[in-house]
Amino acid sequence: MENCLFCKIIKGEIPSAKVYEDEEILAFKDINPMAPVHILIIPKNHIDGADMLNDENSAVVSKIFAVASRLAKENSLDNGFRIVTNVGVNGGQTVRHLHFHLLGGKKLNTALC
Ligand code: AMP
Ligand code: ZN
Repeated sequence: MENCLFCKIIKGEIPSAKVYEDEEILAFKDINPMAPVHILIIPKNHIDGADMLNDENSAVVSKIFAVASRLAKENSLDNGFRIVTNVGVNGGQTVRHLHFHLLGGKKLNTALC
C-alpha cells in the first residue's frame, strides 16, 4: 500500500535491520527499542491492524506467533517475553500496518494500560 511505512520497508525502499523473512512475513528490529530485545513482526500483505482481521486474512497471525516463538528462542528469551499489538488511535497504534511487538530481555513492566 502506498505511503505505508512498513510496506516501504517490505519493498526495501526504507532500510531495516531484518532478523527473519519468508514469503509471508518480515521481522526487523524496532528503531526505538523499549526493551533489550524489541522486534516487530509483520505480514507482507498489508492489513491495517488487528481490527481488520477476518476469516480470509487471519491465518498469517498464527504463523507470526510461530515466528515470534522461534525468534524468542534465538534471542535466549528463556525467562519469558511479551507479544503486543496496538490497535487504532486509542490503542496507541502509530503505524497502520498490522504488527506485533516481540519484547524481552528484561523483567517487563506488568502494567497493561
Ligand atoms: P505502534 O506504536 O504499535 O504502531 O508501533 C510502531 C513501532 O514502529 C514503534 O515502536 C516505532 O518505534 C517503530 N518504527 C517506526 N519507524 C520504524 C522504522 N523505520 N524501523 C523500525 N521500526 C520503526
Ligand atoms: Zn503496509
